[in-house]
Parts: sequence; structure tokens; C-alpha cells
Amino acid sequence: MKEQNNKYLTDLIDKCTNCGNCRIICPAYKYTGEEIYSTRGRINLIKGLANEELHPSSEMKNLLSVCLNCRQCLRYCPAEVEYFSIIRYAKNRIRNRNWMFDIITFFTEGLFSHKHATSEMFFSATGLFRKLIYKNNKLNFIGRFMGRSAKLRPVTDIPSIARRNFFEMGIRHKLNNGRDIRTALFTGCGGKYLYPEAADRFVMILRSNGIETLIPKEQVCCGNPLSYKGLLKKSENVLKKNAEVYNQLIGLNCIVSLCSDAVIAFKERSDSGKEPKFRFPVLNWLDFLLQNKIQVIPEYENSIIFHSCPKCGDFKVYENFIKNIYSDYTKIPEFTHDYCGSTELLDRSNPGLRDQITRDFCEMNGIKGYSYIACSSFECVDHLNAYFLRNQLSVKAIHFVQALRPAPVNDTSAGT
Ligand code: SF4
Ligand code: SF4
Repeated sequence: MKEQNNKYLTDLIDKCTNCGNCRIICPAYKYTGEEIYSTRGRINLIKGLANEELHPSSEMKNLLSVCLNCRQCLRYCPAEVEYFSIIRYAKNRIRNRNWMFDIITFFTEGLFSHKHATSEMFFSATGLFRKLIYKNNKLNFIGRFMGRSAKLRPVTDIPSIARRNFFEMGIRHKLNNGRDIRTALFTGCGGKYLYPEAADRFVMILRSNGIETLIPKEQVCCGNPLSYKGLLKKSENVLKKNAEVYNQLIGLNCIVSLCSDAVIAFKERSDSGKEPKFRFPVLNWLDFLLQNKIQVIPEYENSIIFHSCPKCGDFKVYENFIKNIYSDYTKIPEFTHDYCGSTELLDRSNPGLRDQITRDFCEMNGIKGYSYIACSSFECVDHLNAYFLRNQLSVKAIHFVQALRPAPVNDTSAGT
């Protein structure tokens, strides 16, 4: 088994020609200037691990964890090296050999299990903990004391959890199934717990356009934050659970996801031959709107900038979509595809490096001058809002769908 796994890893690594093209774009390399933090540097480290010339030490784990998962290197690799399989597999291997390293992560991230109830517990506990240590978004006495004792980073390292999750908001929109399209929504943890108003807005758009939208309550995390940390078995369990939940539904045209990473993970599962696979096609929210010609108009006319980077797929599609919906307006808002420093949802690793990237991102794009930045992923929304709060900037990050509303002609939403 060990030999088989090793062969899998070395086959992936052997595709790398060591050309160094990936260094052009890798922000971890750009900001540190050190080969060992570049894509190629990490691949060579993992090669040493696979050959057993290097050991799965805590130092190795720290070096690998400097990858920010921005996915920009994939576009620059002429050999189409599957870097993500390599890094996730290597992290998994380090965990398996040194389980003591990750005992805390095991307990915290273990709560993102394949059970809906444990995710609820995780997010409720995080929300309560935040209340305990913050007052008006600033650390209170208890928070300062705990921060000093545990050497935690201040304030925004704990996400603000919405008072109610998406399901507790109730179904507020009139069902108008005029298009004979039945779909099921995957909200992701971002749409369910952190920014339920985004999921709510998307459901309103679909239902106002006559699309029947089911929202299975038992859906769980997509598994990406787990696989990013090398918790491949746990990630596999949550994918399996989601497949079971959606496969129970009848007569769906497709599953629509607000989380672009989930689309990739669900498709990979369906292609992998593992059972159960998703028996319905899975579409990113924007692809669904475009394919079904869903009419939307902008929510904000001024003071908004749009943002999408390679992590969410082809940013040109997002950009063209924005140009199109603003085509009747006198001014089309700015669009940036620069990398903002976000990683996986709720990940707080590499704080110094990510802060530096975000500071440059904000300066280059004049973010301070806007009221809103609309992002194509919850990861960016979460990361940027944490940065804005920490640096007392009044700009707010929102998900793309919050910057849209149904076109008036079809606006049949009932409201509350
Ligand atoms: S994902 Fe981003 S940070 Fe990681 S190696 Fe690729 S470019 Fe560098
Ligand atoms: S661009 Fe691809 S082939 Fe070249 S060094 Fe980077 S990962 Fe290897």
C-alpha cells in the first residue's frame, strides 16, 4: 500500500520539469524571495519526502503550509503538473506519520464532520466564543487576557457568525415555478453560516425567475477546508454525505453551488468512480444564471468594485457578466482579478504574509475609496472583511450575488 501511494505521488511529481515558470506568479515566492517557498521549491521538498531523503518533520509541515492555495501557479505551468494533488497528498502523509502535530486541528476541524449537527455545534460555539471576547468588534477584557495568554492574533481572527443560519431565516420568497426547472442549492458554510444573506438573495433571484429551488438542510461542508489541510479521509466523508443528501432528491435538473470550490470537489467525486457519486450535474451559480438566461440587474450603481481571481475559475466570465449587467449604465464598475490573500474559508494561517498581500491589493486597487467590494467567493469575502475590520476601513466585502437583484419584469418576490 505504501509503495502504491508513493508511486502515485512520484508519478505526479515526475511531470514537473523544474522550469520555474510557476515562480513568476507564486505570491509566497514573490513576497519571501525564497525558492523553498515557491511552487517548484515545495514540489522538490515533497520529492525528498517521497524518496525518504527528507522526514515528515514539523519543519517540513511548516514549509508546506506556506502555500496559500491561490491556484495561480496552475495557469503558468506548461507541464500541467497537478500541484494540488501533490501538496494535499503530502500534507496528508505528514499528518499520518506525525499525528501529534495536529491534535488541536483534529478537534476543531473534526467538527466539520459529515454530520449536520456537529457543524451546527462548531459554528454556534464559534459565535458564542466571539461574543464572549469581543465588544463592538474590539477585544474586551477577557479577550485581551486570553489573547495575551494564548498569543492569539487580535480581534478579527474569529469570524463574525450571523445570528441565524440560512435555514433559520425561513423561506421568504414566493414559489413561482413557471420555468419547469427544478434545482437544489448548495450554500457552502459561507452561505449557510457566515453570510446567509447572500444565500437568501440568490434564492430570491431564482424563485423570482420561476425556478423551483430546493435547499436540503442536511448538506454539510464541501470538504475543501479539510483537504487543504491534508485531512483527506474527513474530506472524503463529507463529500460522501453531500452526495447522499442530494441524491435523495427527485427530478432535479442540477445542483447549483454558491461555492466554486465545491463545484470542483463534487465533479471530482463524480469522475472518480467512487460511490455514491452525485447523480445530478453540479453548476457554479454564475454558470447556472448564464445557461438559463436569468435576468438580473445591479443592486449598487456607484462605489463598488468587483473581484474574482483564479481560485474561482475563469475570471473573464465574471468580468463579462458584470459588463453585461451594467451595459445600460453610464459607468461600468472597475473589476480586479488580482489575488487578495485569501486561502480556504476560516483559515488563519500565514497572517503576516497574507496581510502584506492584502495591503498591496488594497493599495493597487484603491479599495479604500469604495463602499463595497463584491467577490466571487466566500473565502475572499471572509478574508477581506477580517482585514477591513482589523484596519478600520469602512469598505465592506460582499458576495457577488448580493450585488444583484432580479430584473423588475420578473420581480415577483413576496418579501417577508
Ligand atoms: S497555490 Fe499559490 S501560493 Fe501555492 S504554490 Fe501555487 S501560486 Fe504559490
Ligand atoms: S511551472 Fe510546472 S513544470 Fe515548471 S517548475 Fe513549476 S510546477 Fe514544475
